[in-house]
Amino acid sequence: MVEVFLKQGREEAPSRGHPWVFSGAIDRVEGEVDAGGVVDLFTSAGEFLGRGYCNPRSQIAVRLLSRQPVAIDKAFFRERIEEALAIRKPILSPETTACRLIHAEGDLLPGLIVDAYGDYLVLQLNTAGMERFRHWIISMLKDLLAPRMMFDRSDAATRAQEGLSDSTGPIVEDGSSATGAEAGGGPLVSGPLASGSDQRVTFGDGLARDGTFPDLIEIRENGIKFLVDVKQGQKTGFYLDQRDNRSLIRGLAEGKKVLNCFSYTGGFSVYASLGGAVGVTSVEASADALALCKENLILNDIPLDGHRLVKADVFQFLRDDQDEYDLIILDPPAFAKRKGQVKGAIRGYKDINLYAMKRAKKGGLILTCSCSQHIDTGLFQKILSYAAADARRQLQVLGLWGAPPDHPTALHHPEGAYLKAFLLRVVE
Ligand code: SAH
Repeated sequence: MVEVFLKQGREEAPSRGHPWVFSGAIDRVEGEVDAGGVVDLFTSAGEFLGRGYCNPRSQIAVRLLSRQPVAIDKAFFRERIEEALAIRKPILSPETTACRLIHAEGDLLPGLIVDAYGDYLVLQLNTAGMERFRHWIISMLKDLLAPRMMFDRSDAATRAQEGLSDSTGPIVEDGSSATGAEAGGGPLVSGPLASGSDQRVTFGDGLARDGTFPDLIEIRENGIKFLVDVKQGQKTGFYLDQRDNRSLIRGLAEGKKVLNCFSYTGGFSVYASLGGAVGVTSVEASADALALCKENLILNDIPLDGHRLVKADVFQFLRDDQDEYDLIILDPPAFAKRKGQVKGAIRGYKDINLYAMKRAKKGGLILTCSCSQHIDTGLFQKILSYAAADARRQLQVLGLWGAPPDHPTALHHPEGAYLKAFLLRVVE
């Protein structure tokens, strides 16, 4: 086993339970390291801190898998995955058929994302370490969940930092006979990830690519139907992390004129309509996302005449549009994906919030979100307060939410709690 020793004075975070070790914190390595190999982590004095995998190419040189000297084998992954699935049991039902099954560090499986869309699974392996365990993970998911098909969406920008190229496509039985996965999607799960579907594909150990994975998968979320583009959509196809906040909006929308900025495929727009909104404007830069937004409205029998679908840059739209709204949703993409982007991100968040605050009626509500890992809650609140000052409005905070329980975070890994959603009310 390769042994990694920390520098004196750099031991606090990993000793407390933070799963990352930055390259600058490492004093010496004993043994031959290779990208993705399993290592043991020690303090400078030789006290064992945990077992994980390393990547000398990455700034995050070690990611810990366990604080115990356990074998990192198939049984280890089985236990971790079983625990992750147990947390999701109460979330999945015939009414909610999509959720995040494995949330990387939050499930003590750094670098691994698995999302369920009905009885289809989407995988994202983000690190060289997790790539090593790809076959175990796939075969374990197959054994535990009997998915209809799996899709590889390992195309996150972070893969390049790990020295990995993208890997996308259906994960199918050694190539040819993906007969159970005809285009258009099949029946949704009847119970949580119902096993034993007679149409399911059996997976070989190898990865093969073919084109039989459906272009759109129909899911249900809180009883609402959505079409998800797993192949081309953002993230793994759907923003599962906003499920509870979309529910919140449904409960607030009655009789309201709603503006949904950065609408993607219309998640908040559909919920607001079903919650009784009197008019909804969805603003989105991507024509494909907007087209799917329209499909999702139709799928839920929502009359389109109450809708304005606007293909525009939100920054520009908020300046040009002179309407006033009762309820505004701001759910932009992460403006700060890296630390170096924080300054520009602050300007971006302040800008859209300032203009949204101007567009909100007196007594109106704004649900404003940030999913930038590098902008914490305190900083985000500060940005909002500066925006309010410039907009000359007084606002109340009615609540602050994050992601739902299928996106757990390790207590010692605050970076994992990336989503912040403030519900604000304009007092005057
Ligand atoms: N609220 C959505 C998810 C939003 S993701 C949901 O619940 O599903 C952010 C969206 O903002 C993406 O669809 C992206 O295409 C869009 N986007 C990014 N920059 C934009 C801009 N400047 N103007 C308009 N849309 C933008």
